[in-house]
Amino acid sequence: MDTYFKKEQKRQILLLVLAGLLPLLLCLVFTFIEARKEIRRQQSAAVIMLLKQAETISDQAWRMADHLQQYATRPCADISHELQEYASLFPYFRSVGLMHNNSVTCSSAYGGKAGDLATMIQRPVPRHEKPSWAISLAATYGVRDRPAVLFVRNTPPAFSSYAIVDGQYLLDFMDALSESHGYSIGLKYGSGYEIVHGPLVQTNQTLPDATATQKITSARYPISIRITTPSREAMTVWRQVLFTFIPMALILSLLLMALTHSWLKRKLSAGDRLVRAIRKEEFSVHYQPVYNLVTGVCSGVEALMRWQLPDGTWIRPDVFIAAAETEGKIVPLTRHLLQLIVEDTKSWKVPPGFHLAVNLAAEHLQHPGFVDDMRGFAAQITLPQPRITLELTERSLIKDGEAVSQKLKLLQSEGMFVAIDDFGTGHCALSLLQTFPLDYLKIDRGFVNAIESCEREAPVLDAIIHLSHKLKLSVVAEGVETPEQMAYLQARDVVFIQGYLYARPMNSAALQIWLKENGRTRLR
Ligand code: C2E
Ligand code: CA
Ligand code: CA
Repeated sequence: MDTYFKKEQKRQILLLVLAGLLPLLLCLVFTFIEARKEIRRQQSAAVIMLLKQAETISDQAWRMADHLQQYATRPCADISHELQEYASLFPYFRSVGLMHNNSVTCSSAYGGKAGDLATMIQRPVPRHEKPSWAISLAATYGVRDRPAVLFVRNTPPAFSSYAIVDGQYLLDFMDALSESHGYSIGLKYGSGYEIVHGPLVQTNQTLPDATATQKITSARYPISIRITTPSREAMTVWRQVLFTFIPMALILSLLLMALTHSWLKRKLSAGDRLVRAIRKEEFSVHYQPVYNLVTGVCSGVEALMRWQLPDGTWIRPDVFIAAAETEGKIVPLTRHLLQLIVEDTKSWKVPPGFHLAVNLAAEHLQHPGFVDDMRGFAAQITLPQPRITLELTERSLIKDGEAVSQKLKLLQSEGMFVAIDDFGTGHCALSLLQTFPLDYLKIDRGFVNAIESCEREAPVLDAIIHLSHKLKLSVVAEGVETPEQMAYLQARDVVFIQGYLYARPMNSAALQIWLKENGRTRLR
């Protein structure tokens, strides 16, 4: 195929591939977004539950601290027993107690043994302005390997009650929440120690940080929680969402490819391009003069179709004629050609009996409109007594031989002539030459090419010429390029020659000038 059709083919394949890839790419993007949403949803659900739990524990702790306020003025010996009861009976509490100026005066753990707050909470006492404050701790004096949360209620000037919640309750809850998703969760009271559960997750590289980590704070207490999804888990979620949608994307991709394919077939098929080119008047006709060796003048022309694209590229006739034949567009194309010839010949000045040869495809001969097409054409030609010659290839005569023969006889009886084109290249049984109503035999230029000099024989060519004479057919030799070839043909009584030696195909305007200048010039 011609490069034009090849380029077009490449473009079509690219378009098909794109159509197939598009749904898959969209699916990747869509599932990525969907996975991010899913991760956030899961995180939100977990983090809200944890916050609720932390708030409930806080409620209880404050209630305890409030309750202890009534013991402000009682000696420790009187109340230590009750304090011990509170710490052990109520869930969550590690210890409860009373303080005076940040010194523990009475506690459920150590009774009246005084100690300072900093020692108890294993860190400096934080600065605080509010009368009630809470802080998360890494450890307490009595339990050094587990975090805790301290709640303090001050009564000016110096008295405070406190409750310490064991961090294990929060850790257990975090553990339950993160079991299926492997979260890393951090929970903090005030500016205290972050109670952490799960792996220490580094910044997530696969998904933006905003998705990987979510933060939430309580509206009621100074509690802040952070939850992080490890990248491995994020990928798992994405994969799950992807697997849900990929079958749909595949179906869509196939569907889109099929749609594109049929659209391309309809929209951009070679046949459509031909029809479009006819409409856009991209076709024209060139004419190649034929020389009569006996009279020494130009006896006529052969019409040869030309196609030039808007960008200036010429498409070879054997390419687009073959395409028109396979795409079933040869009949409209030939009708267009005939119309172009009618228009061109209106301005020609040629002597009576001028040959006008037209190439016809086998399909056209079998078409029911063929005879009418040719009659219409002949009727519109305004030249004086033109010899309209129908050039047929051997292929045209093989199929529907009898019907074709009838049509040709009819047209011959109305003044047209029939030539067999490219003779010797097809698979024509010689007997057909006898049964078909032929006037001319055009010898393919392959045989003419074989002529090297007047002395050296070209036996096949000689045989063809001999056969033509026997059958009383006039011979036209195609592709005559050298004076030696002409001399050889002349010596064997070939009457007509056509080829670059005499003239190349040219457009209608050029032909008129050429005819005026060279039409009657004898070749030597
Ligand atoms: P064809 O009917 O055998 O046309 C003769 C071809 O030989 C033309 O090529 C012409 O330009 C070329 N030619 C003429 N003299 C010489 C020469 O001395 N040396 C060489 N090397 N070539 C020469 P073109 O125009 O490229 O056409 C090629 C073929 O395309 C034609 O072969 C014909 O089969 C087909 N074709 C062209 N126009 C039409 C048309 O309007 N209808 C149909 N059905 N076929 C056409
Ligand atoms: Ca021809
Ligand atoms: Ca030919």
